[in-house]
Amino acid sequence: MSDWEEDRMGPTKGLEADMDMQGETPWNRVCSKFKKEFGQQAYTTWIGQLGYRGVDGGTVELTAPTKFVRDWIQRNYGPRLKDFFYAEDSRVKSLSIRLAAKGATPAIPSQTVVRAGKTDDQPSLSGVENVDEQAALDPKYTFESFVVGKSNELAYAAAKRIAESDDVSFNPLFLHGGVGLGKTHLMHAIAWEVKRRTPEKRVAYVSAEKFMFEFISALRFKDTHAFKQKFRNVNLLMVDDVQFIANKNSTQEEFFHTFNTLIDNRCQVVITADRSPTDLEGIEERIISRLGWGLVADIHPTDYELRLGILQSKSESAPNVDVPVDVLEFLARRIISNVRELEGALNRVMAYATLVGRPITMDMTRDVLQDLIRANDRKVTIDEIQRTVAEYYNLRLSEMLSQRRSRMIARPRQTAMYLCKQLTSRSLPEIGRRFGGRDHTTVMHAVRKIDDLCKSDSQLDEDITRLTRLLEG
Ligand code: ADP
Ligand code: MG
Repeated sequence: MSDWEEDRMGPTKGLEADMDMQGETPWNRVCSKFKKEFGQQAYTTWIGQLGYRGVDGGTVELTAPTKFVRDWIQRNYGPRLKDFFYAEDSRVKSLSIRLAAKGATPAIPSQTVVRAGKTDDQPSLSGVENVDEQAALDPKYTFESFVVGKSNELAYAAAKRIAESDDVSFNPLFLHGGVGLGKTHLMHAIAWEVKRRTPEKRVAYVSAEKFMFEFISALRFKDTHAFKQKFRNVNLLMVDDVQFIANKNSTQEEFFHTFNTLIDNRCQVVITADRSPTDLEGIEERIISRLGWGLVADIHPTDYELRLGILQSKSESAPNVDVPVDVLEFLARRIISNVRELEGALNRVMAYATLVGRPITMDMTRDVLQDLIRANDRKVTIDEIQRTVAEYYNLRLSEMLSQRRSRMIARPRQTAMYLCKQLTSRSLPEIGRRFGGRDHTTVMHAVRKIDDLCKSDSQLDEDITRLTRLLEG
């Protein structure tokens, strides 16, 4: 028996012993942080394959199924993983990832992998499995569970069309939008729907990262033929997060060939990215232009109404917890970053209430979500201040930024400078620059002047209060 095996069979030491009140272990929390920073896909592909063994003398012991996975994680995620562990326990100094011995007792798993079509009584997603065993389609991500609003209606309609029509109407469909706005959800929904309607179709869903990983392994094992067959032999190919293959030239090349072959064969391709094709940096011009040939649909940040709709739909799907409407409204107003965070916030409040066995209240919500709420506090920009103040005083923006000195214009300008100082963290020189290239002493003067005037001029004082409220929303 090797040292390592002996070691492994002993009781696991370290972090997992100290569970918090929500029954979470530090390893779980490290995994959550990872997901939050790198996304579910990267998590499933990489960290989800690790086993956690414990901490020994400042070294976190992890196991990986293959050398390749181990090296990849070490190179790409090692430092961040260490940071996450360090945040749990400041004694942590290093990470060690070893290869898991075949047939060894399983380590503490970091997740349960949801595999589509693994049991006989479920509709099989064999196409998906053949292409990518790890890319589990989330059964929760369907069209039914997707809430439609102004910001995502085009993307939704396009996805729906692709899932429901038998011929190719636009190819590729390129969905883009910020993180956590539902791109992956829509892709999985397409896959489920296509498999439901036409089970014989071969559907492939893969993250661009995984695509790259497989391609590189194929190169290493000199098996690019099989790789090509696998991806080119499908009816519908979906590649998630293509921004990931920017600057990875040989993967891009292969991706492009696959992509061209499929399109030439009239196979549907769906692609997502966190930005539009033209904003993708480090991806070749000819690829970008071809990506834009079909339909490009962007998902905008959510508005209040959509956020509330999503919260309502999520809270209804948990029938044994009652979430008061004012709490839903509060969350929709305050958690504006993205849907993933919004969901996370709601789940946290529901989990907490269940755990302590008390009904959900506003006070509890504020308490449980302190950190999130602070992180979502709106940051006011100089631009917004200038626009709002100009509008408030019925001036054109260009007038306010001009060199004219008449009181009618100078006072609002000073007010705007004052608000920039109060509501943003910009420096005086920076504020001066943004006001038609003025000197920082001018800004300083304006700030003092308004401060003074407010003491005697109640109208001005009120204007400032009103404007502040407008700007801080
Ligand atoms: P992206 O891939 O754009 O980063 P995801 O598809 O992973 O985002 O979405 C993040 C989370 O938010 C998922 O749990 C998803 O179900 C949820 N979500 C996003 N948009 C919606 C929506 N319009 N309706 C319901 N759930 C949504
Ligand atoms: Mg995604």
